[in-house]
Amino acid sequence: MTSEANGIAADSGAQERPRLKFKIDVDIVVVGAGLAGLTAAREAARMGASVILLESRRVGWNASGNNLGTVMPGYSVPVEEIIERVGFEDTRDLWKMSEEGVDYVRAAASDAAMPLTDGVLEVSNVDAGEQLIRRLQMLGSDFGSDVEGWQVDRVRESLKTRRYFHAIHFPKALSIDGRQYVHGLAALAEKAGVRIFENTPVLRVDPNGVRKRVYTPDVMLRCSDIILAGNVHIGAPAQRLHGTMMPTWRYAALTGPLGEDLAEAMTYRGAVTDSDGVDQFRIVDGDRLLWMSRETTWQGDASRHARSARSRIATIFPQLGKPEISEAWSGVYGQTVHGMPQVGQLRKGMWVISGFGRQGLNTSAMAGQLVARSILWGDDRWRLFSPFELVWAGGTAGRVAGQAFLSFSRKKSAAMGLLSRVRERSQARAVARERAREIRLAKAKARVEADRERAAAAMQRPNENS
Ligand SMILES: Cc1cc2nc3c(=O)[nH]c(=O)nc-3n(C[C@H](O)[C@H](O)[C@H](O)COP(=O)(O)OP(=O)(O)OC[C@H]3O[C@@H](n4cnc5c(N)ncnc54)[C@H](O)[C@@H]3O)c2cc1C
Repeated sequence: MTSEANGIAADSGAQERPRLKFKIDVDIVVVGAGLAGLTAAREAARMGASVILLESRRVGWNASGNNLGTVMPGYSVPVEEIIERVGFEDTRDLWKMSEEGVDYVRAAASDAAMPLTDGVLEVSNVDAGEQLIRRLQMLGSDFGSDVEGWQVDRVRESLKTRRYFHAIHFPKALSIDGRQYVHGLAALAEKAGVRIFENTPVLRVDPNGVRKRVYTPDVMLRCSDIILAGNVHIGAPAQRLHGTMMPTWRYAALTGPLGEDLAEAMTYRGAVTDSDGVDQFRIVDGDRLLWMSRETTWQGDASRHARSARSRIATIFPQLGKPEISEAWSGVYGQTVHGMPQVGQLRKGMWVISGFGRQGLNTSAMAGQLVARSILWGDDRWRLFSPFELVWAGGTAGRVAGQAFLSFSRKKSAAMGLLSRVRERSQARAVARERAREIRLAKAKARVEADRERAAAAMQRPNENS
């Protein structure tokens, strides 16, 4: 079965909610019922605000209800790039905040009585031990993060593939059922007092004045603060914002049962992600593989990508062959030019939480909580995101360039991986050659020794005779 992200998984816990048809004045209106909007709405309500959440379609219909559920610290961009942009100290604070996002999801999943699996393993496609040590040093010692370095042998004991080398293990990261979490979060938001309306698109906002106006097809609302959490679908209410995100589709696939073969190929039970952000996978339902790899800047057919997931699985775990795919789906997220999310105040009372990219579970949780605290408690840590301005993503040309960049990074990652494996093989050959040379030398030395002893014995014999 294949599906685009336009439906809700049958068993996802989704429920229908009404469209807004009556006028209402509240403290906060949140636009968009994905992970970001739901978290912000829930937190604001928990702090005592009256909150309305407006969703143009259904809760979690897009990325938020179709993700893989891997929750780990960090952002969609490598930490080194963040340091280059804002310096070490601010990067450390941003990293800490990204960890708060992980803690938030863990707590919310537990409040919603959802099962979770501990640990995420970030495996390296290349043999770069020094790089790993540097990264471990930075995350562990400098940022105080809970991380463990895994040597190649340990990685290959847990994942039977020669594709991966070293790894960083995040024991406090986790995975959840990504297609159910958003609905659990919606239930928690409602429990906190949030009123959610579906099929209610926000067509326009008027941010002027103390009481702002929000226009929907049937009614106009007034509020003190508006939180825009619409991701790439925000459209008319924030055209400028809309242009700052490059829509990026990601594809996921679930295999049929793989039985013992999978248990032999993979003993690690947490989520695995490669350091280039290309492949991400984990075991679900005991013996199925949940896999995500490709990204495109145009919406593609999920069933076509199911075929590419099969090939990818066969490439990484040849012992599994090309497994049958029982379900495939996709979702779209906004990728900003600098890769960091958009978090903060656009003007007085107008807030944005958007552009979470491929790592949206921890970051949307962090941003939702942060903006609620900013509005109600005056927390101004959102300013740490100010250097990551709203940069136009380049429209159609930007998407063409983005696609070229994605293909280039995939090819570059594949080439670097190949290089490492070739190096590893030639290193193994060199070790074997060296061993053979040592054996040859030892034999030659033994022969010389034996000759010498024979010669000495021969020299002694005439003396003995004399
Ligand atoms: C296949 C896939 C797998 C992923 N896996 C992971 C993963 O394992 N780990 C991870 O960290 N991240 C993952 N992500 C990324 C993560 O899912 C996203 O970054 C995150 O869900 C984005 O949340 P959001 O609330 O910003 O956006 P969305 O989920 O898009 O929600 C925004 C909502 O706003 C609504 N909206 C927009 N405009 C309006 C309007 N004008 N009026 C009313 N409503 C509006 C939309 O209808 C939508 O429902 C994955 C993404 C995909 C697609």
